Amino acid sequence: MGNAPVLKVAINVPLSRLFDYLPPADGTCPPPGARVRVPFGKQRQVGMVVAVAPCSDLPRSRIRRVLEALDDTPLLREEDLWLIGFTSDYYHHPVGEVAAAAIPALLRHGRSLNPLLRHVAATDPGQGVDIEALAKKAPRQAELLEMLLDAGGNGIDVDTLAEQMPAWRRSFRALAAKGLVSEFEMRADEPEPPPPRHAAPGPVLNRDQKAAVAAIRAGTGFHASLLDGVTGSGKTEVYLQLIGETIAAGRQVLVLVPEIGLTPQLVARLRNRLGIEPALLHSALSDLERLRAWRQARSGDAQLVVGTRSAVFTPMRGAGLVIVDEEHDHSFKQQEGLRYSARDLAIARAKHLDIPIVLGSATPTLEMLHHCRSGSYSHLSLPRRAGTARPPTVRIVDLGRAVSAEGLSEPLAHAITQHLAEAGQVLIYLNRRGFAPTLICSGCGHVAECSRCDSRMTVHAREGRLRCHHCGSGRPLDEHCSECGAAMRPLGEGTQRLEDELVRRYPGRQVMRIDSDSTQRKGAIDEALQRATSGEADILVGTQMLSKGHHFPKLTLVGIVNADQGLFGTDFRSDERLAQSIIQVAGRAGRESRVGEVIIQTAFPAHPFWQRLIEGGYARVARDALEERRAANWPPFSRLALLRSAATRRGDAHAFLDIAAGFVGRLAHGRLRVLGPVDAPMARRAGRYRAQLLLQSGDRRLLHEVLRELRPMLEADPAARKVRWSIDVDPVELF
Ligand code: ADP
Ligand code: ZN
Repeated sequence: MGNAPVLKVAINVPLSRLFDYLPPADGTCPPPGARVRVPFGKQRQVGMVVAVAPCSDLPRSRIRRVLEALDDTPLLREEDLWLIGFTSDYYHHPVGEVAAAAIPALLRHGRSLNPLLRHVAATDPGQGVDIEALAKKAPRQAELLEMLLDAGGNGIDVDTLAEQMPAWRRSFRALAAKGLVSEFEMRADEPEPPPPRHAAPGPVLNRDQKAAVAAIRAGTGFHASLLDGVTGSGKTEVYLQLIGETIAAGRQVLVLVPEIGLTPQLVARLRNRLGIEPALLHSALSDLERLRAWRQARSGDAQLVVGTRSAVFTPMRGAGLVIVDEEHDHSFKQQEGLRYSARDLAIARAKHLDIPIVLGSATPTLEMLHHCRSGSYSHLSLPRRAGTARPPTVRIVDLGRAVSAEGLSEPLAHAITQHLAEAGQVLIYLNRRGFAPTLICSGCGHVAECSRCDSRMTVHAREGRLRCHHCGSGRPLDEHCSECGAAMRPLGEGTQRLEDELVRRYPGRQVMRIDSDSTQRKGAIDEALQRATSGEADILVGTQMLSKGHHFPKLTLVGIVNADQGLFGTDFRSDERLAQSIIQVAGRAGRESRVGEVIIQTAFPAHPFWQRLIEGGYARVARDALEERRAANWPPFSRLALLRSAATRRGDAHAFLDIAAGFVGRLAHGRLRVLGPVDAPMARRAGRYRAQLLLQSGDRRLLHEVLRELRPMLEADPAARKVRWSIDVDPVELF
């Protein structure tokens, strides 16, 4: 025992270190990448062996023993552990928490790779039940039985069922008492693989597409390419070609997308055109579904893995290509807990594996454009729409001159009438859900505020309630002003109010609203997108949910109701973001044979931003914004890290950051720029005061050296106990 090796174990706790353990008593030694169950304080925890070392800094008598090894063979390979380590180092986040985030929940909780799970299913007598008759007497029981009948002989595992029907137990007991259903244990084996299908043929690639494919194919090993193609230029066809070639060469492909729920068309297209079943990894899966997809990626059975943010950690047996679609999308950045950018980790992973990565967007981030300019990434452009589709025409409507009602100007209303008359479909975009952004007093101008945040309440007229979009709290609509007693009125437009107005103005037309309020029910998004795609809905009104990569064949007019949000933003990314959202939503217009039209309503038509955007498109806005950033030394010309703190007392939030600023001063000897501490832009949210401290440097290495030493100092400081704090490396939400 004296010279038994020491296991370095990552444990899911908020401490930036590994923990030493001795191998289990049975004499085996779990290898790196295997999970172990360990005693931790008075509890037991599941940990991941990261390394096996000959010795420890601690005396052996003080090192505890692993209770049991959970994996005989490593769950993760060296390259997967490398990514976990890199993520922990780069984002200065506790390695145990990173390791936990990198594997599916069932594995995190110590279940085996092929766990025994409880299932419920209909029995033979259950198969013969008259569902409709049962539904009259016991609707819930009928609903459950029908779900189980649909699911077939193996039924549904209990975890999945609990998600789909939280109150299933009661109905289950009643059905079980009648012998119609039963509960049993079974392995979570793969479902039968679907029969192989034919790959549907695609279009012949055009010259630009061929050039892009050839450029990417020509590289060997790691190579990052920015596929900068206008909306509808055929980026997806380029991906399809490369994916097909990589799979044919026996390698796997990882495709990261912003939100799978919003892009069912993409998944369907990959499936049909490649003739294979991709392993899907996204937030709407049950734990079991996620484990299955993860396992298929890990074993190499899945040739194609498509997933959202956290899929970047998915182990793969032989990855040969990584694709990040809509690289500019903010959902690649996790905004809480482990604040990582899946896009940036994907690049790091591709580099480590020495394989190519393709980053696609019609509105690439300035970070990626900067990499292209400096020559480290290739810039491949698809400047024209593919096939016969032409770019849409763009027109500005001056809200200061045009007559408008409920947010719709006469020129826009007129264009809607015209496009509908010509059997076109219309999309009205407003990035504000609810009925109106706020409720204002007609007497004194007082606005309804959230009692827990420094923010206004949004009017949700359908429910007759005010809701805070920041903390989720709500209350009934105030009829009278709390200050002067005069009547309160909704001010401004939200998607609900626009929907009402469109219904009123265009009787007989199908108006459909798509925002996070209208799509809460499971399956609601798919249904809505289906109605939009088929053209059954004449007028679509909604938020940025409508701007993501959709292809609505009949859509010919896009109206942007309030383009001015963001025109005077304080964040150095305001221009970039505004241009991205406008170009993306505008890109939904005229994607087939008919030319599209885009109408932008603004109260500031003379603002230079509009001129740049309309004359020079996104490229021009991006070029100017890059110059401004260079002059001001903002990213990508410097690196940022943001320290945040929140506490019930404002003084505590600030005191913690004052201490942090002191540490930084000592560690960096004035070589880092330190801004703050200051109140966060929304200084109070959900009852907590928030403050922030920004660190900036042109020298990434220096910034990281400071953060590496700072983190344990902060963890150990007593002031940390009074606040919630975090380090955000490369923050995207700053002000
Ligand atoms: P993006 O991904 O850039 O938005 P898509 O790949 O979805 O573009 O292509 C837009 C439309 O053009 C799709 O309907 C697609 O089938 C079609 N398309 C793409 N490439 C070609 C091509 N080379 N020839 C004809 N049609 C094409
Ligand atoms: Zn609030």
